Amino acid sequence: MLVRTCCNKFISAVKSSVEYRIICKKSDFTKNIYNVNRRNFNKLEARHFQFFKDILGGERMITDQEEMRSYNEEWMRCVKEIISPGISSMALKPKTTEEVSKILKFCNDNNLAVCPYGGNTGLVGGAIPVFDEIVLSAELMNEILNVDENSGVVVCQAGCILENLDNKVAEIGLMIPLDLGAKGSCHIGGNVATNAGGLKLFRYGNLHGNVLGLEVVLADGTVLDCMSSFKKDNTGYHLKNIFIGSEGTLGFITKVALQCPPRANSITLAFLGLQNFERVLRTFKKAKQDLGEILSAFEVLDTPTMEFVNERLKMNSPIGDFPYYLLIETSGSNEEHDSDKLHQFLESCMEKELVLDGTVATEPHKINAIWSIREKIPDVFKDCGYLFCYDVSLPLENYYVLVDDMTQHMGKLAKKVFGFGHMGDSNLHLQVEVDEFTREIKNHIEPFIFERTKQLNGSISAEHGMGFLKARYLNLARPYNTVKAMENLKKLFDPSGIMNPYKVLPW
Ligand SMILES: Cc1cc2nc3c(=O)[nH]c(=O)nc-3n(C[C@H](O)[C@H](O)[C@H](O)COP(=O)(O)OP(=O)(O)OC[C@H]3O[C@@H](n4cnc5c(N)ncnc54)[C@H](O)[C@@H]3O)c2cc1C
Repeated sequence: MLVRTCCNKFISAVKSSVEYRIICKKSDFTKNIYNVNRRNFNKLEARHFQFFKDILGGERMITDQEEMRSYNEEWMRCVKEIISPGISSMALKPKTTEEVSKILKFCNDNNLAVCPYGGNTGLVGGAIPVFDEIVLSAELMNEILNVDENSGVVVCQAGCILENLDNKVAEIGLMIPLDLGAKGSCHIGGNVATNAGGLKLFRYGNLHGNVLGLEVVLADGTVLDCMSSFKKDNTGYHLKNIFIGSEGTLGFITKVALQCPPRANSITLAFLGLQNFERVLRTFKKAKQDLGEILSAFEVLDTPTMEFVNERLKMNSPIGDFPYYLLIETSGSNEEHDSDKLHQFLESCMEKELVLDGTVATEPHKINAIWSIREKIPDVFKDCGYLFCYDVSLPLENYYVLVDDMTQHMGKLAKKVFGFGHMGDSNLHLQVEVDEFTREIKNHIEPFIFERTKQLNGSISAEHGMGFLKARYLNLARPYNTVKAMENLKKLFDPSGIMNPYKVLPW
């Protein structure tokens, strides 16, 4: 009886997936436009369905067509329009490492492809299936296992939402050394899998430094215990680092140990207007020199970005209109000292005519209001005509050159080209708005933008990773032998290639 119910459910899931394929107007869009073929993985059968049900029960195994939609689809329009939804008919929601291990071992033994899924906020099509891969979601692996007040190390499961984790450690005066606009949805496991950067990387460094330990389940179900709570632990190879930024292609991250610095009790935010990029650059060098250890973020926005935020969100620049805007945040432990330092820096910038105007916020609600101008940019872009989004690193002398080059290259094809980003980390977000998506425009932008980034000695992916969308360009970004070494590493950890196929490595 149970088997029959399962089979019926399975058949309806398969039907759903077929219907899904039919109702999806762009069903073979991904396959055609990107010239990618489904690899020779097995398709789900009733006995597979039964196995997963035995482990997770019906409630943690999603097959309902409507519910599957959110696991198959990107939510950000700029990605959604260029990749058709996956056609996966099943999402699994384990709660423990043991469950993940059993699921992956079974998938490996049965040649079933798997797509690890966190908060689905990555912007390169990494977390959604390309074809019918089984979605393996970390959303119920959301337990905070330990917060050590002495060392400041938090140990948690991979599905904890970044903001929840930060709120938890805030209770004992600590902070998560990572902050990004998607903090209310993204998972710490997704952050580690993408080596996320964000607004505070400039001050606190990247996850390779802040993640002290990881637990990862490999494709064959082996649990790799690379957990450590020490900053110093040189016992052999640093395996955890291989999984940071591996985007679900080498294993499924189940636990994370993260060092948390003390939460700053004095935060100040300056919002400044500047005349040209040369002055932006000089202000950056001066800020590093004058503000030193209290400088915690350095962000830039250009005029088109600010105008767009004004227009769509009715959020005005608090200081009037300027060609460039800077958000400079300081955080420290002594309000008087920090405020003196910032004011001296700003006075000196004004005297030297580096900065034309500015405002300084010290109260939390004012700080949040100004930060939200920057943090809400992706929300604004969500609703515009159509947007091509890029995330590159560039040497600072070439930082804005790419925006100018792109504006010129696009001519009338673009409505606007926007440049903003984490300038303190050389990270530029470049976005091109057009009336509607067409293949011709896409081909006009790519690979031009990646080739030009290379010519300017930049990296084609600063923080979002390669995912599905940029995997084809890995050969452009990295030398032949390096890509080969990556492919060999993939074969070592995942010989059957079931973990997140078609992502990161060129197909
Ligand atoms: C508004 C907004 C602002 C953003 N700002 C920033 C920013 O400032 N800096 C930045 O770096 N990024 C930023 N991003 C991108 C995104 O938030 C990050 O890449 C984030 O780390 C993704 O986490 P996630 O849990 O949503 O992962 P997902 O999108 O679910 O997955 C991302 C990749 O990781 C893999 N993955 C997820 N969980 C696991 C796991 N447990 N084990 C193994 N693999 C896994 C997936 O297969 C996929 O390849 C932003 C996105 C948005 C929407």
